[in-house]
Amino acid sequence: MDIAIVGGGAAAVGLLDALAAGDGAGTIRVFEPSPQLWRGRPYGPDLDSVLVNVPPALMSIRHGDFGHYAAWLGERGSEHLDPLLGKPLVPRALYGDYLAFTAEKAMAVLSERGWLVEIVAAHVTEVVRSQDGLLVRTQDAQEHRATHVALCVGGGTPPDLYGLAGQPGFVVDPYPLADTLDRVATGNDVTIIGSGLTAVDVVVSLAARGHRGRIALLSRSGVLPHVWQRPVDRRPEHVTVERVAALHQAQGNVTLDDLIGLLRAELADAGEDFAEFTAELFSTATEDPVQRLRRQIAAIDDPRIGRRVLQQTAHTVGPYAWRLLSESDRARLRRHLRTAVSVVSPMVPVNASVLMRLLDAGQLVIERVDGRFAASEIVINAVNPSPQAVPTAAQPLVRSLVDAGLATLHPSGGLVPADPRVHVIGDLTGGGSFVTSSIPGVAAQASRTAQALRTGRTG
Ligand SMILES: Cc1cc2nc3c(=O)[nH]c(=O)nc-3n(C[C@H](O)[C@H](O)[C@H](O)COP(=O)(O)OP(=O)(O)OC[C@H]3O[C@@H](n4cnc5c(N)ncnc54)[C@H](O)[C@@H]3O)c2cc1C
Repeated sequence: MDIAIVGGGAAAVGLLDALAAGDGAGTIRVFEPSPQLWRGRPYGPDLDSVLVNVPPALMSIRHGDFGHYAAWLGERGSEHLDPLLGKPLVPRALYGDYLAFTAEKAMAVLSERGWLVEIVAAHVTEVVRSQDGLLVRTQDAQEHRATHVALCVGGGTPPDLYGLAGQPGFVVDPYPLADTLDRVATGNDVTIIGSGLTAVDVVVSLAARGHRGRIALLSRSGVLPHVWQRPVDRRPEHVTVERVAALHQAQGNVTLDDLIGLLRAELADAGEDFAEFTAELFSTATEDPVQRLRRQIAAIDDPRIGRRVLQQTAHTVGPYAWRLLSESDRARLRRHLRTAVSVVSPMVPVNASVLMRLLDAGQLVIERVDGRFAASEIVINAVNPSPQAVPTAAQPLVRSLVDAGLATLHPSGGLVPADPRVHVIGDLTGGGSFVTSSIPGVAAQASRTAQALRTGRTG
């Protein structure tokens, strides 16, 4: 078997790790042009204030082993403890070291088992059919034979919604923040477009550098991410892949009301009021974001499990359940997109406290935007691409796969393999939900892909 893995970020690490756990032999080539091998867009070198957004149990790149990352972190975790969360939250660059360690270990194990593993520092431009398999072509005009291809190319780059590219003081892509904030003087008036997790990264990093100027978060919804609560030692028993699969088998379909029923059962077991829980969720879009942030910081220790269940299962059960829903149920969920994204991609408490302090001091303001806004010395784009957007770096490659009939574009975005030799992991996977893929989601997909590669089934 000759496997070509296109892209060398977290998804590729998860795939190598899962392949190393099984049998088989042949060659594996990982194509990654960036010097930040294994780190992808999020986990390269940056400021120490750019933290992972998720507690350790949800940052394991090994599917099914929640403690894998925490075990690697070990004692170092105590240097990065978020006192409100009671768990370590490390700089994203340090998490990148974990990915690099895991990849190197997997490559060593694979080599011992007889695999030939090679890194090709080149950009893949095409995958085409050859007489006896597939051909992977790179920008430097090299060709590599493959029997299988796994696309791990990540998500798109930030869209310039207001056509500001080229304007003085405008930054279209904020990462790495170490470079972006080097251009910002401490007294500058800074406008950040967006109010999601990237905007939070920018605000927190400005604060860490002692910024004194006004900071405005400009957003159409004015909704901030929710705040993570302290993890509790309780795993969902109803909202699980197994329960959803059983419903699917029994009924031949799964509805949104079925999923709501599972959540309702989860809360009932814990003695929690479902109506109160949903009323709190639905007020996200209308409540004053500052009041809400204050209330959520006060609720970090609240033992109720409702939000915790949603936040965990949206990334583990969600991608599977989404594909089983009817289009009308998906449309029903999409109507609550801002609320859903805010709940399932929350900010870490240490960052929430920084935002609260700046909001209380009047240095940070949240403004609604309707397409026009006042000029500012610095404008930083913190708008993320929609999941399933094709990354610019992968556009020729995607076109070649579609032209060769090896994959098709999904009507709602992303790529769907049309040949059992082609696999897609991560945001590019066609037909996914509006939630960006996270480490547990990518790890689960990588594990399924490794299984499919071993057994010859489609991924
Ligand atoms: C800023 C940011 C912060 C995040 N923080 C978290 C977090 O804390 N926790 C969490 O769970 N999730 C987080 N995420 C979600 C994130 O998408 C996943 O955690 C993970 O990085 C996805 O891995 P990936 O391998 O799919 O993509 P990436 O990590 O982006 O890697 C894709 C790789 O593919 C390469 N590539 C693209 N096109 C080609 C080509 N044509 N040829 C060869 N190589 C190519 C790129 O160079 C890149 O290295 C974050 C996302 C972002 C953008």
